[in-house]
Amino acid sequence: MSKIWFQDKPSSQKNRAELLEENQLLYNEVLASREAASITADLVVQQFARMEEINANLAKVNDELQKISSLDGLTGVANRRFHDEMFSREWRRCRRNRLSLSLVMIDIDFFKLYNDCYGHPAGDACLKKVAETLNSVIQRPTDLLARYGGEEFVYTLSECDKDAAYAIAEKARITIEELQIPHQESSISAFISISLGVASIIPEQSIEHKTLNEHADNALYHAKESGRNCVKVYSVCH
Ligand code: GH3
Ligand code: MG
Ligand code: MG
Repeated sequence: MSKIWFQDKPSSQKNRAELLEENQLLYNEVLASREAASITADLVVQQFARMEEINANLAKVNDELQKISSLDGLTGVANRRFHDEMFSREWRRCRRNRLSLSLVMIDIDFFKLYNDCYGHPAGDACLKKVAETLNSVIQRPTDLLARYGGEEFVYTLSECDKDAAYAIAEKARITIEELQIPHQESSISAFISISLGVASIIPEQSIEHKTLNEHADNALYHAKESGRNCVKVYSVCH
């Protein structure tokens, strides 16, 4: 905007009309300046609002990315990667606070035969239903269900001893049985069933955290050997 200069005569020598005109011009400049300032202020406010909107969208996208990278694509429960991270975190926390930590390894019985009989898409639908049902059994914010791989799932139960973990595992077994998903090829039930292996520990510095995994695997193996559709708890001599 151009500045207006009045250098022709001193004010005292100007007539009324000239002074009014000068006054009007100055007034117009003030109005124009005010308008420009308010446009600039509006632009700044708009830019801030836009930046806030962009930041909020970025945060949403990041949250989504975080979720996607920690969830299993088929079943929507936590994936193995997230389980591993959470498990080692909880191992350290329980070790510091001398708390029990339990793992429950879960495996669908005769699932290969289920796929062979009903087809892979039906197998996928069954996996989703089983995952959703297993997830509904656990309640506490520190409990986690993850898909461990294929037709295997795992519960990580912090601050949960062997008896409490057994109770959750048995509840999960019964809840899956009660879904009554037909499985005509299974030799132990007319319906989809699961086998579960429970292991509990109060973590110690001298023990590696994979030990608990091995114990839970061992108990699961024992459940399969014992006829499936059952829960076994790890103990040194079973
Ligand atoms: P067991 O009772 O001893 O556990 O027998 P099983 O047949 O369940 O065990 P096995 O390890 O022989 O077979 C697992 C099957 O799970 C084979 C594989 O096709 C199926 N499976 C693994 N992941 C998926 C998946 O994402 N979708 C479907 N539909 N099937 C899957
Ligand atoms: Mg398996
Ligand atoms: Mg299986």
